[in-house]
Amino acid sequence: MSIKVIERSTPAAWLTELPPMGMDAKSISADFRRYFSHTLGRDRHTKYAHYMYEALVLTLRDRLWERWKDTRYAYEEDRGVRRAYYLSMEFLMGRALSNAMLNLGVTEPVSKALYDMGLTLEELTECENDAGLGNGGLGRLAACFMDSCATLRLPVVGYGIRYAYGMFRQRIENGHQIEEPDHWLRSGNLWELERTEYTQRIKFGGRTEGFLKADGEMGWRWLDTHDVLAVPYDLPIPGYHNGTVNTLRLWSAAATDEFDFEDFNSGSYTEAVGAKNMAENITMVLYPNDATESGKELRLRQQYFLASASLQDVLRQWVRIHGEDFSEFAAKNCFQLNDTHPSISVAEMMRLLMDEHGLTWDQSWAITSKVMAYTNHTLLPEALERWPVRLFRQLLPRILDVIYEINARFLAEVARRWPGDIERQRRMSLIEEGYEQQVRMAYLAIVGSTSVNGVAALHSELLKQGLFLDFYELWPEKFNNKTNGVTQRRWLAGCNPGLNALITETIGSGWVTHLDELKKLAPLADDAKFQAKWRQIKLDNKVRLASLVEADCGVTFNTAALFDVQVKRMHEYKRQLLNILHVIHLYDRIKRGDTANWTPRCVLIGGKAAPGYYMAKLIIKLTCNVAKVINNDPAVGDKLKMAFLPNYRVSAMELICPGTDLSEQISTAGKEASGTGNMKFMMNGAVTIGTLDGANIEIREECGDENFFLFGLTAQEVEERRQSYNPVEIIHSDPDIARVMQLLESAHFNQFEQGIFDPILHSLTSPHDPWLTIADFRGFIDAQQQAALAYQDQKRWTRMSILNTATSGKFSTDRTMLEYNAEIWKLNPLPEMPLAEAKPAAKSTSGVGSK
Ligand SMILES: *Cc1c(COP(=O)(O)O)cnc(C)c1O
Repeated sequence: MSIKVIERSTPAAWLTELPPMGMDAKSISADFRRYFSHTLGRDRHTKYAHYMYEALVLTLRDRLWERWKDTRYAYEEDRGVRRAYYLSMEFLMGRALSNAMLNLGVTEPVSKALYDMGLTLEELTECENDAGLGNGGLGRLAACFMDSCATLRLPVVGYGIRYAYGMFRQRIENGHQIEEPDHWLRSGNLWELERTEYTQRIKFGGRTEGFLKADGEMGWRWLDTHDVLAVPYDLPIPGYHNGTVNTLRLWSAAATDEFDFEDFNSGSYTEAVGAKNMAENITMVLYPNDATESGKELRLRQQYFLASASLQDVLRQWVRIHGEDFSEFAAKNCFQLNDTHPSISVAEMMRLLMDEHGLTWDQSWAITSKVMAYTNHTLLPEALERWPVRLFRQLLPRILDVIYEINARFLAEVARRWPGDIERQRRMSLIEEGYEQQVRMAYLAIVGSTSVNGVAALHSELLKQGLFLDFYELWPEKFNNKTNGVTQRRWLAGCNPGLNALITETIGSGWVTHLDELKKLAPLADDAKFQAKWRQIKLDNKVRLASLVEADCGVTFNTAALFDVQVKRMHEYKRQLLNILHVIHLYDRIKRGDTANWTPRCVLIGGKAAPGYYMAKLIIKLTCNVAKVINNDPAVGDKLKMAFLPNYRVSAMELICPGTDLSEQISTAGKEASGTGNMKFMMNGAVTIGTLDGANIEIREECGDENFFLFGLTAQEVEERRQSYNPVEIIHSDPDIARVMQLLESAHFNQFEQGIFDPILHSLTSPHDPWLTIADFRGFIDAQQQAALAYQDQKRWTRMSILNTATSGKFSTDRTMLEYNAEIWKLNPLPEMPLAEAKPAAKSTSGVGSK
């Protein structure tokens, strides 16, 4: 963990000048064998594929490392380069191996080398644990952003936390979710590079003390603190075929040595070691709450730890080059805050500039409010972060002082703009009054930022009209939209080799960096030969998915059936419940013999529930119970199957989205900020059934309403409907719905577990059900029937599938990153790198690599 610091003059340049490494099968094979035998010390008796996986990682790592160094040197050469930093508590990276091969352009030579050695790529990729350092969409978005920035050669560094335990592993036992710790680093992580030399010191606790500075101004000291060290671990982020390797820097907590030493002298050696544990606790575990706040002290510690370590790291590099001259700092640096989780950075930046670098309040504020940019990810009130003032005072007293001062000056501005409007000041205050005072982190982020963005067009509009209306009235120019995306390298080229090959042989490979080029597929949507190939690939992918379902759920999916999939975090607003109700409706139809013109269907649901989210866990249990009844009823047979897929994660999604026919995106309108699962499915030729929510709206705009199954209330109708919502009346007036409710109420799916689903029945039938599930049920049944009929016409369905892929160009994070860059970051791409493997096959106008 720690190294002895013996400084010496910097090594001569030639020390790091080496001949370029071979990218052919022969060089790769030679390195692989050397690593396997000489570095890892394995021999012909080794049975564990893990060591072969490690030999391959070391082989590829060398090739990443040399490009990484070139990229760093390029940054250093251009000392004036403007840079952006993506601050995020979550990076849901998944596996790195096949992505590294794809982006380095060595998939073929590696496969050949392995083949010659009697190995397969598949068995080695399976050895890698997912880096599950995130909950869901927000964390995966950060990962896709990193890939696109490297591919666009944008000088962006990611900053996050190296949790020892990532997102829990989910097991299902008798339909119940069991959480198991994800000790993903247990067998080491060869992708990371420890950077002890850039360790930072983070303060906690203690007290503040004012003093008179030499210039007569007031200064503040933060004293008697309990410090923790932040040790950085760097992960390489390769761009696609461009020789660029960017950096994701993850911080790990470590105890300071002197802390131990003090206690040791007072005779409590074991307590001292215990304190070391306390310090290292900070980065022990990822909080598994998606879209809700836990309000735990350790979580606030994590947030401050990330903010302080990252900002100190950037300031350290600045001072190394520019000394204590910060006049150009705001022109050269930009921090993108991924939700409010790192928003404490606003106050920490002020503290560092004033207390550590001697700037005045006004100088510091001019810099801070210009370099910060905030992305909002949710409209759910329960997800908005508020921290008790009491906790701040105890844990971060100096930061609380700064927040109070920011608030005082901000409220004075509000008072100048709206004189006498006390109510507005109360609404907008960074401090929420009440039984216990709370700091409103979203408001801190807005006040301290130059840009505030939502993540889909609808979401950004709703922010301005609702949650942040007061702030929009004050600063309309801060507000903007950046519709999310996903990287087509992982989510099409990598995860769907069959479709990758067909698309590339048809329109060339330009789409891998210019996704808009997929629209060249549209003229082939009705071409019989192309359709046949398209269908065959989908079938192959359904076979792969069916074997995953067989292995992990013990349920047999018939690949001729419609594969109907909903995978995402379990949450009431996402309405997995609506999906289950529809499955029960289909079951009821089969049992009543209403099966004329039937479309066989396999329904897959998967996702993790936050461990403390009772209703989400109950919905998993209901899924499993309904599945059990349906799958074991001989009268149902192949007409309908259902399975709950355990442990949904990135590597599972890489198998799932290519094999899906119908993508379920059925949240209550106005609740899903964007969604990105919807985009992965669309790219892989699934047709969406969905509400007008989040990015679904833009997906439908792109693919056309004839290639999308729309249903449900709009966001506005949802709000109107709440006033007079009577689900019981709807149930009584619709026999299909009534029979579904009857089955649930008669404990048909819980004969030996009486009453367990009562909370679900209560919420569905309550006039206060926030998710209005019953209101959308009839529309959903009808849209599902449309989808089932469309699927029977395989030509029509294949056309819809092709057109979904062909129109998915907008949903590349390359487009998203170009928008962030054009409107917020304003970075210049790095020059061409010397070891760029291949030029993009075709030039197009949509912008990757253009200046
Ligand atoms: C894409 C993705 C998500 C986000 O899915 P949504 O449907 O947008 O909520 C969550 N988890 C994983 C593992 C993903 O790959």
